Amino acid sequence: MDTFEEKVQAMKNMAPEDVQAAVEKLKSICTCPTCPSYNRCAKDGKELLFCTTGKSFMCISDEKSCICPTCPVARDMGLKYTFFCTRGAEKAQRYEHTVWGTKMV
Ligand code: SF4
Ligand code: SF4
Repeated sequence: MDTFEEKVQAMKNMAPEDVQAAVEKLKSICTCPTCPSYNRCAKDGKELLFCTTGKSFMCISDEKSCICPTCPVARDMGLKYTFFCTRGAEKAQRYEHTVWGTKMV
């Protein structure tokens, strides 16, 4: 089990209010607002933490660059992927890569 899987597992054992508090804390650290891909629409919609919540809701579609690898959350959560606002949450991207990497027999 890697760091991300351990964190997800730990969250599953937390009370809903504690999960919400943890999400809010991560949102306050999220560096997306300083990313070139982040736009006015996302800002107005208070969109953050795409690595956990998934794709931007009809705001970000243009991938300029992704600064997730420099974000403290990425390091802390052990994230492997990037461009979460356009490609989906870490969990979703891991799942997609697992499925496509699976041998069909
Ligand atoms: S890893 Fe990316 S999406 Fe996740 S909190 Fe950091 S900047 Fe935001
Ligand atoms: S997920 Fe990556 S590409 Fe999207 S706004 Fe955040 S840092 Fe930028």
